[in-house]
Amino acid sequence: MPHVITQACCNDASCVFACPVNCIHPTPDEPEFATSEMLYIDPDACVDCGACVRACPVDAIVPHTKVMTEQLPFVEINRSFYPERPAGVKLPPTSKLAPILPAAELHQRGKYPLTVAIVGSGPAAMYAADELLTQQGVLVNMFEKLPTPYGLVRAGVAPDHQRTKLATRLFDEISQRRGFQFFLNVEVGKHLSHTDLLQHHHAVLYASGALHDKRLEIDGMGLPGTGTATEIVGWYNGHPEFADVPVDLSCGRVVIVGNGNVALDVARILTADPDRLARTDIADYALAALRDSAVSEVVIVARRGPAASAFTLPELVGLTQTAEVVLDAQDHARVREDLTKVHDTLTRQKLEVLSKLGDASAPITRPRIRFAFELTPARVLGDGRCSAVEFTVTGTDEVQRIEAGMVLSSIGYHGTPIADLPFDEAAGVVPNEGGRVIDPATGERIPGAYVSGWIKRGTNGFIGSNKADSLKTIQTLAADYNADLLTEPIAGPRAIARLVHERQPDVIDAAGWKAIDKAEIVRGEAQDRPRVKFTRVPDMLEVVKDHADLPLLQNLLAALRRH
Ligand code: NAP
Repeated sequence: MPHVITQACCNDASCVFACPVNCIHPTPDEPEFATSEMLYIDPDACVDCGACVRACPVDAIVPHTKVMTEQLPFVEINRSFYPERPAGVKLPPTSKLAPILPAAELHQRGKYPLTVAIVGSGPAAMYAADELLTQQGVLVNMFEKLPTPYGLVRAGVAPDHQRTKLATRLFDEISQRRGFQFFLNVEVGKHLSHTDLLQHHHAVLYASGALHDKRLEIDGMGLPGTGTATEIVGWYNGHPEFADVPVDLSCGRVVIVGNGNVALDVARILTADPDRLARTDIADYALAALRDSAVSEVVIVARRGPAASAFTLPELVGLTQTAEVVLDAQDHARVREDLTKVHDTLTRQKLEVLSKLGDASAPITRPRIRFAFELTPARVLGDGRCSAVEFTVTGTDEVQRIEAGMVLSSIGYHGTPIADLPFDEAAGVVPNEGGRVIDPATGERIPGAYVSGWIKRGTNGFIGSNKADSLKTIQTLAADYNADLLTEPIAGPRAIARLVHERQPDVIDAAGWKAIDKAEIVRGEAQDRPRVKFTRVPDMLEVVKDHADLPLLQNLLAALRRH
């Protein structure tokens, strides 16, 4: 069993293309890829060359000799994806080499090189820039509302998942390529309009994600003590817009409604040992609040049964390796019953992990997580502040109450409309065909407008799922450019920078971001942490200003040291 893919797998499939013997599946052209929870190495076919290890942006692949105790379940998880075959047969019978996805090919036309504005700077945006910059001469201007880039990788991935955050190494490398320019701290819709961008670029690609969460519409949501899991995610990750979210951890129990991976992240952080979190990049104020926390139990409640859980197997395994997770007797019985009915391997693996969890009747000795199933939320109770949630046992009239001083909904994200573009409110996406924005009323393309990531396909998948998604959008964009369907910018590439500086003097460029990045890392070094984040925009601007005020020679030396 030479190499094993572990929990941090981001699904960007770089490993698939690096593998010389096609032993990593599903590949992006296989139907299971779109829904796969991770990628898997075929232990019989792997030739132990290590090419996948070098290709993986998040260090998720380890040789079997270096698998750590908590990663051991992934040996079987990788193996079980592949069919049994006779001894000595290396490859499954259907195996074929993964086709290299063709790069978008451009035929230069017009006065200016292809110039694309990308709105947003998360994974979908960075992978789109990566694809565009494979072509000679292409210019990419990236616009981001915050002073710091990389979207959910910085502000969404849980701080105890530092491996996943390693994707920023790849993003840093992309952002340093010739032709790439950052316009950070610039809000499209406020400082610049869609028309402004379109006038200065051949195309505008929105990769702005799905910022907002779906709301749980039951009585009592809105009482102090209620909120959303995504607010807590922004809060502990130091997102400036969530730094002031009131988080009162003086209660003994928190209830989270919904059992997707976001719920697992939040429950894990709320119950984690603060000393362990103190070695991460969690926001300082969140760490202080967690040190004072009285929370001893987080209950993750699902309206359906165990077999229909929304969390993924890798995240469930990771959770049970780091936290104390329990079920009460009724839910243990539900798991056992589902095990008699369910036959697909992945769901059975999840149920088997659940079946081995401890019993909730045991006394609480350290903060723990409890899964609860088949409870449909009915209302939040409380007099001035939430004190309990009432559920009905799904499909019945039986009412169950869980006392809780904090109630968080974690029922998925929803895209937000983009000014001047059509929007499908039900799906929470911008209507598109292969990333090309379409007017749903006429079926016609909206000239020059493209989408990628969650705002294109809805809120599913993992960081790396955006690589194949963005590649498809760039192929569409390139085809439109080659077919002369894109309008030339009205002015040369420098004009947009002048316009941005007029509208937003506090625009931050790549050097400014590097100054913030470096200052955070230096603050972290003293405490043996990857970084100590700035969580207030004025503090970030101060760092950028101090850097800009450095004498020219010092800046040159600093730049030389960086390269
Ligand atoms: P999610 O996976 O879509 O889970 C949503 C949960 O909310 C489900 O349990 C769903 O139950 C429940 N729900 C929806 N409406 C409800 C209602 N009205 N009442 C009660 N429950 C309701 O959402 P998510 O956790 O926000 O994750 C979003 C995406 O990000 C997912 O693709 C996830 O895998 C990804 N993500 C990945 C990671 C990671 O890999 N570490 C971390 C975070 C997020 P039903 O199934 O019954 O509808």
